Amino acid sequence: MNFGSLRLDLLHGGDLRLDGSALFGVIPKVLWERRFPADDRNRIRVAAHCLLVRGADFTALVEAGVGDKWDEETRERRSIAAGPSLAEQLARIGVRPDQVDALVLSRLQSDHAGGATVRGEGCAVRLFPRATLYVQSSELDRARAPGERERASYEPENWEPYAEAGRLETVDGEREIRPGVRVTPLAGQAAGMQGVRIDSEGRTAFFFADAVPTSAHVPIPWLMEEPLYPIELIQNKKRWIDQAAREGWLCLFEHDPDVPWGRIVDGIDGQRRVYPLPAAQREFP
Ligand SMILES: [Zn+2]
Repeated sequence: MNFGSLRLDLLHGGDLRLDGSALFGVIPKVLWERRFPADDRNRIRVAAHCLLVRGADFTALVEAGVGDKWDEETRERRSIAAGPSLAEQLARIGVRPDQVDALVLSRLQSDHAGGATVRGEGCAVRLFPRATLYVQSSELDRARAPGERERASYEPENWEPYAEAGRLETVDGEREIRPGVRVTPLAGQAAGMQGVRIDSEGRTAFFFADAVPTSAHVPIPWLMEEPLYPIELIQNKKRWIDQAAREGWLCLFEHDPDVPWGRIVDGIDGQRRVYPLPAAQREFP
């Protein structure tokens, strides 16, 4: 999609199945199951969209998806579908992994960071050898010393190769990491989660990460499972969703299998809903 002077491309970072409660927390199933049909094990389809942002002199990737380092057992258990790799998808749009100079991760859990590295000889190696990885410092601290609940979803092989190569930069708070590409703290699901705001020629796009994982999570009380910081999450959702609706931003829903991006609009009935845009949309007006 042409977005002012920038180019935005969606990449598929994965296709998996998660328990419905992982995505909808305490929201009653009757309210979500029509749009997100659950299988016989109560699992729903979840995507892991990534966003490539290209400017005149930078190439930035937001999120790395689930990656393909999984063993068969895990792949089976989480129903991670095999699909074209990030490198293959980049090749289709004429981008080599070594052209990516910034990798922004909203958090370091494996469904966001897994694709940052690939299997090398006996160890994981960086898929993007020239990229600097940007993450909030509090998220890195958490990932290196996780609590019991999160231990299984933080895998150091996804980010430590960047740190070892001197290619990991921590951010404290808001920062413009490339012209028009700004990371912003989005505490809620975790303390150190960050969103990404992209501005070009009067247009704004916002990558909500797990704060608004699907287009169904636009209503403020719709939260993913047990956020660690629910009050902050609600405050953040209000602030960013209100502004996005008012100013007609392009909104990205990382885990939505059907609506990766769209506009949040206020209906005349007072209901807020999402007007989806096709994944292959060419222009953001
Ligand atoms: Zn997530």
